Amino acid sequence: MLFASTRGSAPELGFSAAMLRGLAVDGGLYVPKTWPKFQAQDFADDRSLAQVAERLLAPFVSGDPLQAALCEIVRDAFNFPAARRRVDTKTAAELSVLELFHGPTAAFKDFGARFLAACFERMRRPDDPLVNILVATSGDTGGAVAAAFHKRPGLAVSVLFPKGLVSPTQERQLTCWGDNVRSFQVAGTFDDCQRMVKEAFLDRELAASQVLSSANSINLGRLLPQAVYYATTALEFWREHSVPLNFIIPSGNLGNAVACIWARRMGLPIGRVVLAHNANRTVVDFLDEGDWRARPSMATLASAMDVGNPSNMERLRALHPQLSEIRAAVTAVSIDDDSIRSRIRHDAQRYGEVWCPHTAVAAEAWARLDANLRNDLPWCLVATASPAKFPEVVEPLIGQPVAVPAALALLLQRPTAVESLAPSLDALRTALLSQP
Ligand SMILES: *Cc1c(COP(=O)(O)O)cnc(C)c1O
Repeated sequence: MLFASTRGSAPELGFSAAMLRGLAVDGGLYVPKTWPKFQAQDFADDRSLAQVAERLLAPFVSGDPLQAALCEIVRDAFNFPAARRRVDTKTAAELSVLELFHGPTAAFKDFGARFLAACFERMRRPDDPLVNILVATSGDTGGAVAAAFHKRPGLAVSVLFPKGLVSPTQERQLTCWGDNVRSFQVAGTFDDCQRMVKEAFLDRELAASQVLSSANSINLGRLLPQAVYYATTALEFWREHSVPLNFIIPSGNLGNAVACIWARRMGLPIGRVVLAHNANRTVVDFLDEGDWRARPSMATLASAMDVGNPSNMERLRALHPQLSEIRAAVTAVSIDDDSIRSRIRHDAQRYGEVWCPHTAVAAEAWARLDANLRNDLPWCLVATASPAKFPEVVEPLIGQPVAVPAALALLLQRPTAVESLAPSLDALRTALLSQP
């Protein structure tokens, strides 16, 4: 299987080459050239995420150096559950929630990051030089990547985050690793961190001393495995009810949503897809008006979705070139901070459900569905993070402490270490050329 750039003027590559590149040389994103076609029946013997992953992803690595390792990779990557359970809505409406936050850093990004790390580990030959994964993060991504690559032989991670601009819980998740993970707090903004990382990739002196690589959310190796939990969940629902399951997905950069749409494209029994955005309205306005107007991102309570120019829209448009097709494929809604707060308060009281601010955006989107749609179709909210990651927001709203999952509690007890950096390439180069 080959992958092509959404912009059409980069070489087509196999899976591992596209994964190593990240962004295509023409600035586009890699998408599959052809789509394997599945039926629910094909997965009749598959129950676990790893089993579904092995069948679903096999066509994408066919002919690739990683083909023979796929079985091992999916068992390494999918080592924690994606759990769907009913929400008791006190009405006849069929509502469930898919919890994607049972991984090491309690957010769905653990799935993509672990798959990417598992692939990197198997691509490496014993005498290859050390590969250093450079990540600029505004919060969640860096923690997931650090956790996924922690202690993997031949691989190292350097995380850059803006000093004082991530939440206390996020900061602990970025700085608690040690071993092959170094954390740098940069005296600047997220944009400074991102610029430093981009410049580092172009720096000759660094290139001579180490192999630098990235783990961006646009990376194919993070996006494709996310199709697996949608496939597994929809198949399980199909076996019980013989109808497709409909998803409401808290969305920012649209990586999670595109994975769901790709699974549906391959024939999995997935019905409607609703993109639940916070006050960053770029996608919602595009679907309404037809003009793509990227804008600066705006800070909201659902901060991991603060994206004004969602890059994966390019992948959606590659799949559905006409606006009318995109409008048929998805709907989108924008939810402001006041509505996030009142939804968290309301659902805790009425249903006993405690949402993180991102998941609350999806819950509010469900409440705003047309009543017929809401009552007649089975819906599944995608819970992208544990509320325990956002106690500062959630606890005052529900008036009680949020229970901390065991894995997160362990992580929050680890000792932390962080190095400080000035916001310049020189500072980063000096740090990377020295031992910690
Ligand atoms: C990253 C993130 C999102 C947004 O996901 P995209 O793939 O960028 O749309 C939503 N919720 C949480 C908790 C996240 O960390």
